[in-house]
Amino acid sequence: MAWLNRSLIETRKLGEQEIRQVLKRAGELKKLWRGWRGTEFPHLSLRGRTVVNLFFEASTRTRSSFELAARRLGAHVLNLHPEASSVTKGETLFDTARNLEAMDPDLLVLRHASAGAPYQLSKILKIPIINAGDGFHEHPTQALLDLFTIEEAKGSAKGLNVLIVGDIAHSRVARSNIYTLRTMGARVSVCGPPSLMPPLARELGVAEVFHDLRKGIADADVVMMLRVQLERQNQMQFPSLGEYSRFWGLNADTVQSLKKGAIIMHPGPLNEGVEISQEVASGPYSVILNQVNNGVIIRMALMDLIFDGGSKAGGDRRRG
Ligand code: ASP
Repeated sequence: MAWLNRSLIETRKLGEQEIRQVLKRAGELKKLWRGWRGTEFPHLSLRGRTVVNLFFEASTRTRSSFELAARRLGAHVLNLHPEASSVTKGETLFDTARNLEAMDPDLLVLRHASAGAPYQLSKILKIPIINAGDGFHEHPTQALLDLFTIEEAKGSAKGLNVLIVGDIAHSRVARSNIYTLRTMGARVSVCGPPSLMPPLARELGVAEVFHDLRKGIADADVVMMLRVQLERQNQMQFPSLGEYSRFWGLNADTVQSLKKGAIIMHPGPLNEGVEISQEVASGPYSVILNQVNNGVIIRMALMDLIFDGGSKAGGDRRRG
């Protein structure tokens, strides 16, 4: 199945075969990357290509991993900082994107505070777009790297109990993970304060909605903690961060309720002491840094499939 030249806007529309294809390519590239000792990476499938990173919201992991991934595969990377661009002079997102496209890049990676912005741009641009997070809508590459990390730790996502904890209502990470994990056969539940639950949580396809952390984690194979998205709330939807931490924070005490062999995940950035304590984040259950490492690999895999869809990772391909 060829992926060539396609955008990735949302995981809701991805089928099991397509997800499997990304994971398979990621596995091949990870092996290649780990075993490589030479001066030039042996799979420069993006050589001669230009990737534009356009991030309208703050980012550490996602932006740098897209850049590293593109560079590892041989691409040039242009990082555009909206705060230092003509956006500050009133240029719209559409005009900015159209002008960037006129410079002949090959791929646009977009993060934007508005849900739907990458979709709208995909209607007017000819080059592929990867959604790097749009408002509270979706964050597809985060869900793919999370799935890759889960399968590395647990073998397969099929049949696993996955609990997503925290600000489900405003989290694009939760949404993308619910779609992806369900497609791959996991049983996904959510846990958090009622005020941070989407009104129709069950319509997203979750198995159970918990409001008690200890009950929720008791049967979970994977616990995914989320940051409270204060930037997406008009006013704080719970009494205080201290209160939030007391009821929904994972710490040395609450972690005792975890099943043996369970793993703890977090997309970052962590608010240590709020949704997760430092000792839990760096403790034996945590795979948080594996997620970060796999973030580069998954983005390599996706860009590789976009430009080199049908062939196997391992050979050098120049721009045709
Ligand atoms: N980094 C993730 C995102 O961009 C999670 C977060 O910010 O809390 O959605």
